[in-house]
Amino acid sequence: MDDIQLLIDLHKDGARQGPGADDETRLAVRLSGLKGRADLKIADIGCGTGASTLVLARELDAQITAVDFAPAFLASLDEDASRAGVADRVTTLAASMEELPFEQASLDAIWSEGAIYNMGFAAGVEAWREYLKPDGILAVSELTWLTAERPEELQKHWVAEYPEVDTASGKLAVLERLGFTPIGYFVLPEHCWLESYYRPTQQRLSTFLARHQHSDAATAIVDAEEQELALYERYKSFFGYGFYIARKTGG
Ligand code: SAH
Repeated sequence: MDDIQLLIDLHKDGARQGPGADDETRLAVRLSGLKGRADLKIADIGCGTGASTLVLARELDAQITAVDFAPAFLASLDEDASRAGVADRVTTLAASMEELPFEQASLDAIWSEGAIYNMGFAAGVEAWREYLKPDGILAVSELTWLTAERPEELQKHWVAEYPEVDTASGKLAVLERLGFTPIGYFVLPEHCWLESYYRPTQQRLSTFLARHQHSDAATAIVDAEEQELALYERYKSFFGYGFYIARKTGG
């Protein structure tokens, strides 16, 4: 099994594959102004097992295409959507976020929680813009510096992992430069990292290791997860996830 398959195996039984929680998805929905509108077309990109997709399906009158490149995550979402009685609103699609099959100006909103970094924030915002109708909504969560300055160890770690890491003002400037008006921003609270993501992941690590006979690759993944959690606990006042809600400008 390669590293990507191992990561999918570790995360497929989680409710979320990144920081986030249903209340925060609902807050972003409220800020988006989509509520109360009829017959929306939405894509949830990098949906994972679809925690956000299910919130959107419950909150909005929408057809949602939930996109991820991991079929195992999509299978889990299909089951949950049926169980939740929203299968008629959710279509799963195995595709790369870099090669989406949507028509130009066909979507009322693009949602993406903790996933746009895989192609890079600016590249994703630029590429996905064309799929949005005029005034379409982009709602994405993204790693964000919470302060103007930070300890060097932390700076070095994230710049190496994700060179686009920036403050909210930097991210908002990217949105404006690429043809969006920011209409909402908030920081995901701590429980979105610890209770929704890191703690449940941590609880699965020992069975994951056993399932893969403590292979070098599985052990490396577990070590990386533990290190990321330790980094978060030590430095959570300096970085987090920002949720950015923006409206497409200029047609
Ligand atoms: N939105 C979910 C998952 C976030 S994790 C949540 O908040 O829980 C990031 C997701 O992006 C994973 O499910 C991963 O499989 C998916 N992903 C990563 N690179 C991708 C790519 N190039 N194309 C499509 N999906 C991708």
